[in-house]
Amino acid sequence: MFRRLSTLMEPVKKEKIVVILGSTATGKSDLSIQLATHFNGEIINSDSMQLYKNVDIVTNKHPIEERNNIPHHLMDFLPLSESYNLSLFEKDCNQKIKELLGNSKLPIIVGGTHYYLQALFNKTISEEYSRDLWTEKERNFLKENQFNTQVLYDELTKVDPVIASKWHPNDQTKLYNMLKIYYSTKEKPSDIYLSQEFSMKYDVLFLWVYSKPEILNKRLDNRVDGMFDKGALEEVKYLYEKFKEYNIGENREEKMKSGIWQVIGFKEFLPWLEDDCQDQKKFDQGKEVMKIKTRQYAKSQIKWIKNTLVPDIKGKNLFVLNASDLNEWKGKVENRAIDITQNFLKDLDIDKFEQTPEELSDLLDKTKLEKFQSVKNPIELKLNLAPFTCDNCTDKKGKPLVIIGQEKFKEHLNSNKHKHVLQYIAKKRKFEEWKKQQEEKEKEEGNVDI
Ligand SMILES: [Zn+2]
Repeated sequence: MFRRLSTLMEPVKKEKIVVILGSTATGKSDLSIQLATHFNGEIINSDSMQLYKNVDIVTNKHPIEERNNIPHHLMDFLPLSESYNLSLFEKDCNQKIKELLGNSKLPIIVGGTHYYLQALFNKTISEEYSRDLWTEKERNFLKENQFNTQVLYDELTKVDPVIASKWHPNDQTKLYNMLKIYYSTKEKPSDIYLSQEFSMKYDVLFLWVYSKPEILNKRLDNRVDGMFDKGALEEVKYLYEKFKEYNIGENREEKMKSGIWQVIGFKEFLPWLEDDCQDQKKFDQGKEVMKIKTRQYAKSQIKWIKNTLVPDIKGKNLFVLNASDLNEWKGKVENRAIDITQNFLKDLDIDKFEQTPEELSDLLDKTKLEKFQSVKNPIELKLNLAPFTCDNCTDKKGKPLVIIGQEKFKEHLNSNKHKHVLQYIAKKRKFEEWKKQQEEKEKEEGNVDI
């Protein structure tokens, strides 16, 4: 009740920021500079590799001479020996935003590390727990039962039946995490999910610069070739020197999952580098792998926008700019972005702009968007994936088969697998009946004999 009352009060007006997102090589940086120039803005980088000092070409930093004197923050400051993460970004980014707003500058966040954008949301549930708040009993319980899925499930069902019913009873990680949250906050995870997640710290305009894959892939290949024309080779060799200096080679698998070593355009060349840069074939192979990885990365960036960001923001304040044909940049990207941003900043109607240009209308599924908007919190949609148990089928371990989500369950009921099981059960039942009859008959006949 209190919660409802508080929403009736005049909401605190959130400050406005702009986020430019989209996959690599769509022209995000160009747009950011055009917008910053037009609206007295400054850029905050949200590309995890461009945080690092040096290695400008491999990490794709926008050349200084093309930045039109627009300051770029959180770029080019991190020593190669250090690693960085979302929590650090959350702290640094929000501090910068505050600073820029204080100077009456429009903060424009630009970068391809899309999951860093979580920094703009109010605390997400995954960060809500702290070991220090567990009682000794709780600590011991978690320690003893971490991998005992059944016990975790029973315990979670006791403390928060809603959330327990929403996760797969065999999903050890989820069950374990939910209990950790409960023990730390003493609040039901389901309540936290519904009340805290997905409110944003700011009033955010999302501009998604998009290029059709067939065009983008070509552009990505060209970009990789272009890097080597600009001197990427020197940077790769420089990185290798540092790689040796910091002993990254030891425990390589683990270490290369963090820091600058994840950058696309280094590890691909390790076979060549470790061979004294002698074998041209190894170099060519490295470049080929780099191109493939770049294309895969671009694909994953789009997937993240569609599957994570769009539901989280309920598809609101997000506009797609078609950057497929760079000859049409001015009209389809720059001017459209300026018009939308203008209205956004002046609190004028932005819903009058189509979210996606007509030629890209299949990019954001309208019915899905309506679904996102119809729920109080998009997590409800995810939570709706409740488990359903089939009374007839069993899983590999011989337990009753559990299927997540009503739609999937319906599919299962119509599947051949399920029908075969039903047929088998029916046949078995028939056989059992027949056997019983026979036995009874035998008994009767036997009785006659006596
Ligand atoms: Zn079944």
